[in-house]
Amino acid sequence: MHYGGTNHYGVTLESVNIGVYIMHERKNRQWPKPVDEPPNDDELQDMMFDGVVEATDGCEVEPDGVCPHGYPSWLIQLGIL
Ligand SMILES: [Zn+2]
Repeated sequence: MHYGGTNHYGVTLESVNIGVYIMHERKNRQWPKPVDEPPNDDELQDMMFDGVVEATDGCEVEPDGVCPHGYPSWLIQLGIL
């Protein structure tokens, strides 16, 4: 890690702004209508424990992921993440 110069702060600020922007986009994004039935609470907990969750079309994705077809994980769809 190098500290010094204004560049460091510039880069950091920019990264934070991009993070906020992505979160904002995700909150306001219209996801495609789920193809699959929503998981129940137990299934959701298993998914979070495994680190692999189902997307709303049945694909396997990361908990905060979106499958190649554009369907989000159930955790995103349900507003948990
Ligand atoms: Zn898919």
